Amino acid sequence: MTATAPIPISVEFFPPKTPEGAEKLRAVRQELYTLKPEFCSVTFGAGGSTQEGTFNTVRDILAEGVPAASHISCIGATHAKVREQLGLLKAMGVKRLVALRGDLPSGFGIGGEFHYASDLVEFVRAETGDDFHIEVAAYPEIHPQAKSPSSDLQAFAAKVKAGANSAITQYFYNADAYFRFVEEVDALGLSVPIVPGIMPIASSTQLMRFSDACGAEIPRWIRLRLQSYGDDTASIKAFGLDVVTDLCEQLRAGGAPGLHFYSMNQSAATLEICKRLG
Ligand code: FAD
Repeated sequence: MTATAPIPISVEFFPPKTPEGAEKLRAVRQELYTLKPEFCSVTFGAGGSTQEGTFNTVRDILAEGVPAASHISCIGATHAKVREQLGLLKAMGVKRLVALRGDLPSGFGIGGEFHYASDLVEFVRAETGDDFHIEVAAYPEIHPQAKSPSSDLQAFAAKVKAGANSAITQYFYNADAYFRFVEEVDALGLSVPIVPGIMPIASSTQLMRFSDACGAEIPRWIRLRLQSYGDDTASIKAFGLDVVTDLCEQLRAGGAPGLHFYSMNQSAATLEICKRLG
């Protein structure tokens, strides 16, 4: 593999649920800061369930001198609630949002004053002008609830037209899906950076569970190999590092504008992949 130019990275965390989790995450962040991420983002439970934990973690990252992005989701929220959240984030000095629809737990209807992430992007722009850099989600392998691939592409375009500055993708292990999606967005005349979301592989069962829920495809050859390792976590990790480093190399060589790591609040895999990428 030939050496190529460095590529900007960003890292995603979820808000810890316990004081021990918060302590561990503090240490993980310090390790990941050695990679000089462009920003670190913190997820936000749909329905505002993690608001306090999300905002506390964002505040900690900013206090550590690193740019932080807060995820914010709109499903089930009111305009007044989102207005209040935007006010809090602005007062904290947050400059970047990841604006999402979110998924309510089953049993909740799709009520509320927002239906899609594009409504949220439009609202944030109307309320706060250019105060925030807005990231949105993109789905190279198609969002699981999309009516069709073309309607999903149009839904993505609507978010960009509503004012999104850039996008982060759902994770995938098939680089072709990403490059095709980028081409399709370009063909619509939309020029936004679309940063691939990278999910390091640490555990086979966790990955399968996640992927089934979010519609990310685990290619057959990866799935079968992971299954064949059973409980042999060392082999799963070694194989996962090879697969994901190769994917990152392909993405970098193909011109991806950055890599966004879903750290799962762990540092080892992201550090090792970045080390291998040089
Ligand atoms: P949207 O862009 O609104 O799309 C949702 C669905 O609606 C798609 O199927 C789309 O095709 C369809 N659609 C959109 N507009 C229309 C329209 N006008 N008419 C008909 N159909 C339409 N979830 C969380 O709860 N918290 C997080 O912090 C979080 N972070 C994430 C970060 C990233 C980078 C990604 C990729 C996902 C994240 N998610 C998070 C998951 C996300 O909330 C779910 O994937 C959710 O189902 C869709 O959110 P969205 O913002 O992509 O929605």
